Amino acid sequence: MAFEGLTERLQNAISKLRRKGKISEADVKEVMREIRLALLEADVNFTVVKNFVKKVKNRAVGAEVLESLTPAQQIVKIVNEELIEVMGEEASPLNKSSKIPTIIMMVGLQGAGKTTTAAKLANKLKKEQNARPFMIAADIYRPAAIDQLKILGNEIDVPVFEMGTDVNPVEIVRQGLEVAKENKNDYVFIDTAGRLQIDEKLMNELAEIKELANPNEILLTVDAMTGQNAVEVAQGFNDQLDVTGVILTKLDGDTRGGAALSIREVTGKPIKFIGQGEKMSDLDVFYPDRMASRILGMGDMLTLIEKAQQDFDQKEAEKLALKMRENSFDFNDFLNQLEQVQNMGPIEDLIKMIPGMATNPALKNLKVDPKDLERTKAIVYSMTKQERENPNLLNPSRRRRIAAGSGRPIQEVNRMIKQFKQMQDMMKKMSNGNLGGLENMFGN
Ligand code: GDP
Repeated sequence: MAFEGLTERLQNAISKLRRKGKISEADVKEVMREIRLALLEADVNFTVVKNFVKKVKNRAVGAEVLESLTPAQQIVKIVNEELIEVMGEEASPLNKSSKIPTIIMMVGLQGAGKTTTAAKLANKLKKEQNARPFMIAADIYRPAAIDQLKILGNEIDVPVFEMGTDVNPVEIVRQGLEVAKENKNDYVFIDTAGRLQIDEKLMNELAEIKELANPNEILLTVDAMTGQNAVEVAQGFNDQLDVTGVILTKLDGDTRGGAALSIREVTGKPIKFIGQGEKMSDLDVFYPDRMASRILGMGDMLTLIEKAQQDFDQKEAEKLALKMRENSFDFNDFLNQLEQVQNMGPIEDLIKMIPGMATNPALKNLKVDPKDLERTKAIVYSMTKQERENPNLLNPSRRRRIAAGSGRPIQEVNRMIKQFKQMQDMMKKMSNGNLGGLENMFGN
C-alpha cells in the first residue's frame, strides 16, 4: 500500500503538537522540519518539498494557528489542503473528441505498464460508459507486446488491430484508424513502443504518430515504484511530446509515494488515473483530495464504497437483497459473497482505506491469509446440494462427513456453521427493520 511510511511520519510529527495547548513559532519550525524529512524520505522531488514546506509554514505561523486552541488540527487542515493543491486539486477527466473516435495515444518506457493500462482503460470505458473501444498494436519492437495486447483484448472483448512486426508503426496507426472509423468505434487506443530509456529514435517515431493521429489524449504511463526516476521520465516525455496527462501505475507496490506527490508540480500535467494492481479492474480515477486523505491516514471511504459498488455485481446484489427479505439466504449465497469479496483484492488493503486504520499499530502486520477464505469455501463445497440450501439439516454426523470431505477439523466446521447462522439471524433482523444486530456488530 502506498504512503505507509509517509503517513506514519506525518502523523508522528503532528501528534507531538497534540499534547500542547498553545504552540509557538519554534514548535511550528520543529514540526515543519519533520514534515520536510518525511517528504524527502518518501522520495518527493526536492523542489516540490521546498515549496510545500514554505507554503505550509507561512500559513502555520499565522495567527489563526498560533492563537488556536487546537493547533494540531489546524496544521492537519493546512497540510491536507496543500497536499491536495500539489497533486492538482481536482480530478482531471479524459479529453473527449466532439466527434468519434476519441483518440488516445499511450506512451511510456518499456515495462511501465502501457499495454496493460491501455486495456484497463478500454475496459473501464466499456463498463462505465458502454463505450466501444478499439486498440491498435503499434509496438513492433517487442513482438510479445502485440500478443499481450491481443490476449488482453480478448479478455475484455475489445478488438485489436495489428499488422505484425514488419510494417512501419506510423502506417499501422494510419490503417488502424481507418478501420476504427469504418467500424464507428468511439475510442481508439494506440499502444506505442517503449524503450528502456528515452532515446531520440523513439521520440521521433512517437512525434510522427502524434502528427498523423492528432490524438485527443497523449497519456504517459509511469511506474510509481521508480520514484524520482518516474518524475524525470515524465519531464522528458512531456518536453518532447507535450503529453496531456499521466497515468501512475503500480501504486500498489510503491510504499513511498514520491512520484504521486511530485509529477503534477514538476511537469504541470495532471495525473489522470492510477493503477493499483495487475487485474483489469485495478485502475482508478486519481482524486487529489482522496489521495491527500489517504496520505494523512484519514482513510479513503469514498474509494472503498466505489470499489464495492463496482466490483459487486449489481444483479447479484439485488438477488441478495431479495433473499434477505425472504429469509432464504443459504450457503450458495454465502459462497457467492465470499467470491465477490475475494475479487475486490487483498482484504488488508481494503481495511486500510477505513479512516484511522492505515496506521493502526494493531493492523501494521495484518495479513489476511487468502487460504482462510479458501478453507471456508472448501467446507461449503463439501456440503450436498440439500445441505447448502437447508443448513438446518447439518446434524453432527453430516458435519463429521463434511469435515472429512474438506480435510478441515470438525471444530472449524462447527465454528463456520455457527457464524453462518449468526449472519442469517442478523439479516433477518435487518430485513425486519430492526438494526439491533448491526449495533452489536459495532460493539455498542
Ligand atoms: P509496457 O511495456 O509499458 O507495455 O508494460 P506492461 O503493460 O507489459 O506492464 C509491465 C508489467 O507491469 C506487467 O506484468 C503488468 O501486469 C504490470 N503492471 C502494470 N500496471 C500495474 C499496476 O498498476 N500494478 C501492478 N502491481 N502491476 C502492474
